[in-house]
Amino acid sequence: VDSRLPNVGTTIFTVMSRLAQECGAINLSQGFPDFNAEDVLFERVAHWMRAGYNQYAPMAGVAPLREAIARKVAALYGTEYHPEAEVTVTAGATQALFTAVAALVHPGDEVIVFEPVYDSYAPAIELQGGRVVRMQLAAPDYRPDWGAVAEAITPRTRMIMINSPHNPTATVWTAGDMARLAALTHGTGIVIVSDEVYEHIVFDGRRHESCARHPELAARSLIVSSFGKTYHITGWKVGYVVGPRELMVEFRKVHQFNVFTVNTPVQLALADYMADASRHEQLAAFYEAKRDFFREAVAGSRFELLPSSGTYFQLARYAAISDEPDTAFVQRLTRETGVAAIPVSAFFADGRDERVIRFCFAKNEATLAAACERLRQV
Ligand code: PMP
Ligand code: GLN
Repeated sequence: VDSRLPNVGTTIFTVMSRLAQECGAINLSQGFPDFNAEDVLFERVAHWMRAGYNQYAPMAGVAPLREAIARKVAALYGTEYHPEAEVTVTAGATQALFTAVAALVHPGDEVIVFEPVYDSYAPAIELQGGRVVRMQLAAPDYRPDWGAVAEAITPRTRMIMINSPHNPTATVWTAGDMARLAALTHGTGIVIVSDEVYEHIVFDGRRHESCARHPELAARSLIVSSFGKTYHITGWKVGYVVGPRELMVEFRKVHQFNVFTVNTPVQLALADYMADASRHEQLAAFYEAKRDFFREAVAGSRFELLPSSGTYFQLARYAAISDEPDTAFVQRLTRETGVAAIPVSAFFADGRDERVIRFCFAKNEATLAAACERLRQV
């Protein structure tokens, strides 16, 4: 077959979750909760199904959900998006990101990403004939090098894809970072695609720096989020994108022929559920407690933990345990120790291996305690 993606294999999340299952290991690899969402959310889905809302939703999403999204974004970040023209409900963040790239990147355009980079970005760009320009975030602090970004911007730069809080490094960009990004893109036609799926999971009193907080960035950004992360329903695959009208017109041209629309009763249930803002307001404290529990429980082991400032991920170095490549190490950890993790080299195009692995702590304390007991034996 004449492959469009000759260098792409199966995503690491599928590979590691499958291995975890085969080995009966505790799965701290792929990011998803092992606890359930609230019954009231399921009751709302059942309510709308029984009430007959089982046919196609409007292309951009049901009105009450688009209105609830616009209200939340305005309340948190101060930018008003028009629910009719500037909010679109998507089949998760993955589809939103892919559709944004397909709608805006021409063959030969350059798209700047930050490595380690979430694994869906580069293939989406390459399928459009775009050129991926990779900025490096280096361990242990993984800070962006804005001088290098300034040098990487050319007249062909069409888009910059950013992600804070960041998967996999668990770093959070500051207001200073956003100001640098705004200054660098000022007066250009560069579009920002801002992956903010972990917007509600920031720790230690930090503030999430949404592009929607920074008017100059908001004017050139498509902002993507996911209900999967916020409401513990990764399997429902519902997310959204907000952005200025001109960008959303282009986004919807592709969206309508990509998925057309998203699950109707689930959208209506999410609109009901979003009415209570405390649900997303509590999320940071909820996951901060899990982070602290996990870090304390790993403390007696030979893993060296890096900082975790947001997301539900924790990076760890294992140099004191092994000098194996990270992919070999996580496979052995899954098979022999019974704990699965993600090798961070999977997020580098050249497979750069800093001997760092990623654990997901979106788990019940019992799961985390059992995993850590095993990790302390390694
Ligand atoms: N972007 C990032 C950074 C993610 O971590 C994830 C989820 N793992 C996604 C996008 C995809 O989100 P969804 O499941 O809503 O497609
Ligand atoms: N985003 C999740 C992670 O980083 C996985 C999502 C997926 O499997 N595509 O683990």
